[in-house]
Amino acid sequence: MASSSPSDHKATIIDGKAIAQTIRSEIAAEVRHLSEQYGKVPGLAVVIVGTRKDSQSYVSMKRKACAEVGIKSFDLDLPEDVSQSDLICKVHELNANPDVHGILVQLPLPKHINEEKVLSEISLEKDVDGFHPLNIGKLAMKGRDSLFLPCTPKGCLELLSRSGISVKGKNAVVVGRSNIVGLPVALLLLKADATVTIVHSRSSEPEKAIREADIVIAAAGQPMMIKGSWIKPGAAVIDVGTNAVDDRSRKSGYRLVGDVDFHEACKVAGWITPVPGGVGPMTVAMLLKNTLEGAKRIIVQ
Ligand code: NDP
Repeated sequence: MASSSPSDHKATIIDGKAIAQTIRSEIAAEVRHLSEQYGKVPGLAVVIVGTRKDSQSYVSMKRKACAEVGIKSFDLDLPEDVSQSDLICKVHELNANPDVHGILVQLPLPKHINEEKVLSEISLEKDVDGFHPLNIGKLAMKGRDSLFLPCTPKGCLELLSRSGISVKGKNAVVVGRSNIVGLPVALLLLKADATVTIVHSRSSEPEKAIREADIVIAAAGQPMMIKGSWIKPGAAVIDVGTNAVDDRSRKSGYRLVGDVDFHEACKVAGWITPVPGGVGPMTVAMLLKNTLEGAKRIIVQ
């Protein structure tokens, strides 16, 4: 058999859509079991304020995903001009509702509402987005376990483990340090015993750090910033970036690309996630999983 030259190399594509579907089937089976055994199903409240098209489409996707696995969704659609105190009252009602095991407030909220204040009102036991400072704080501390892990970071680790990629002892580079992706994914990798470097917008020579990485998690929101030549041969590349770039050949006028130059990276990496179809579907699957886990803590005593 002819040996393959570097130009023939093709990374294994990590199919996030298929992995997410498997996870959703597992969740559906567990929900059925809870229903048969305890006569109860998990409940997720999805709160949306206003009529932003992107938020509406994310919310309807999440509600549909709930219905598919048997999670009861509690829909709260509030007008754009709802006051902060009325919104907080609604959150308190959901906190007190025993059939609601998870509460998600779709971001961004209108400018007159303080997001941080609203999110901090969500009961820690129902914080399925995992954004509560106490949940993030516990993630950062040795020997502590947060009640919920943020969905996208949790999805990244799940993609690695379900693809048979071990993290322990590996050099991992996270590009981005946001509260919702970069920072928590770095903390999760650290908990999983990787040696972690975080690259951000003020880092000098990001490519130098990335070239050393066995695992790259790209979450910068910079279209195709990471070139193939930056990737260590055989590395695992998880591309969280979801960036719309102009594309006149599409009816919509745009297409989605990641933070990694996918075609270049495919020739070097060992594994890579596509955009779309990589991390995105996992985020919703992890939301369902968090809701199930929250419900099990209450229902299965
Ligand atoms: P933010 O804009 O909040 O954070 C971006 C981070 O990247 C910041 O820490 C920033 O650094 C860093 N950064 C920006 N430019 C560079 C650069 N040139 N080099 C190195 N680091 C850089 O974005 P999010 O974390 O919310 O999202 C990141 C990406 O992931 C986006 O494309 C978003 O759409 C996508 N996303 C996808 C999800 C999914 O489910 N697939 C879910 C959530 C996000 P600094 O801190 O110095 O400003």
